[in-house]
Amino acid sequence: MTDFPILKIRSDFPILSQMVYGKPVAYLDNGATTQKPIRMIEAIDKIHREQNASIHRSVNFLSDKMTSLYEEARTTVQNFIGAPKTSQIIFTSGATGSINLVAFSFGESILKAGDEIILSTMEHHSNIVPWQMACERKGASLKIIPVTDIGELDIEAYKNLFSDRTRIVAVTHVSNVLGTINPVKEIVQIAHSHGVPILLDGAQAVQHEPVNVADLDCDFYAFSGHKIYGPTGIGVLYGKEEWLERLPPYQGGGDMIDQVTFEKTTYNVLPFKFEAGTTNFIGAIGMAESMNYLSSIGLENIQRYEQQLRDYAIQKLGAIPQLRMYGTSEHKAAVFSFILNNVHPYDTGLIIDKYGVAVRTGTHCAMPLMQRFGIHGTVRASFCFYNTMEEVDRLCDALNAVLDLMG
Ligand code: PMP
Repeated sequence: MTDFPILKIRSDFPILSQMVYGKPVAYLDNGATTQKPIRMIEAIDKIHREQNASIHRSVNFLSDKMTSLYEEARTTVQNFIGAPKTSQIIFTSGATGSINLVAFSFGESILKAGDEIILSTMEHHSNIVPWQMACERKGASLKIIPVTDIGELDIEAYKNLFSDRTRIVAVTHVSNVLGTINPVKEIVQIAHSHGVPILLDGAQAVQHEPVNVADLDCDFYAFSGHKIYGPTGIGVLYGKEEWLERLPPYQGGGDMIDQVTFEKTTYNVLPFKFEAGTTNFIGAIGMAESMNYLSSIGLENIQRYEQQLRDYAIQKLGAIPQLRMYGTSEHKAAVFSFILNNVHPYDTGLIIDKYGVAVRTGTHCAMPLMQRFGIHGTVRASFCFYNTMEEVDRLCDALNAVLDLMG
């Protein structure tokens, strides 16, 4: 069925040989966080054992070495997402940190009372609440792109949301609940045709398909390290140079300054203007190691294999008549949100956990989307390239066992 080197890949992830309740873990919660390849684990271990020192500020040997590794990591990220310059890559704490940065700095410098921001119904709370907070500070308001019954953005409705008060659009690349892969290039073009900048939330995209921010032409792109097989507490904000130059710093502290006096402080150049304090430099290096690992496999190969997994899961889950699926767009990642008959998602999740199948249940930080579908939560199985067809079977067997017990 596939020439993808799945056994070799699985052996690169130590945690996948864990047993839970006496069964090998089928880890299907990759939308929440991904597991870590050994070379990333070892890279971080080596830094802690042999190289650790604070970056940018010291003259000593170790610090010099760490600074080089950190800046090399920035170049790795730049190449990974096709950014024109390294200065456009800002290390943050994660997708949430990146979006808060833009929402705050953009909000403070650009937004005025009566202005409008366009979001969509399928956004993660991370791409809703920071904008809402900016709106509250400035007297601006949110306009929301509706989602269709199959879980796609209503592009015609989106076009009609623009007014002369629209200041920015912020939309997810891939939905963490529905799996829908949004037509982001078209969405960017529409925003730009109105002279409006756009932020894309790439938290569920960069790990699954090749992403090129220059080609997408988005103004900002945000994602998290821990969802791309890297460490927690690290993430990326990419921005167009004109915007990053124009926006004020988000946080003040060490490294982001040029000169400080009690009368006035001037700020550092990009990207340091947005990296106040001691950043998670080891995390950045770890994330770059994971990106290098992915590149060695090839994002196109990963994408192709995950599409095979997706198609197989659609077929197998579709054969369970009591399963109601949310998100049936044909442009879809291997993310499946569903409810079994009248079984509470939490019960489903708890029971299949005993079969060694790890999923997530609840609202998935997307309450407005739950409201759109009139539900309180779903079970979500989210696959990635170390998952197998056999794990799809194990998920379905466990779901059938739930139905035998409760359905
Ligand atoms: N956006 C989307 C689409 C997500 O799925 C997530 C994480 N579930 C986030 C943003 C937030 O990511 P983090 O918590 O890593 O900052």
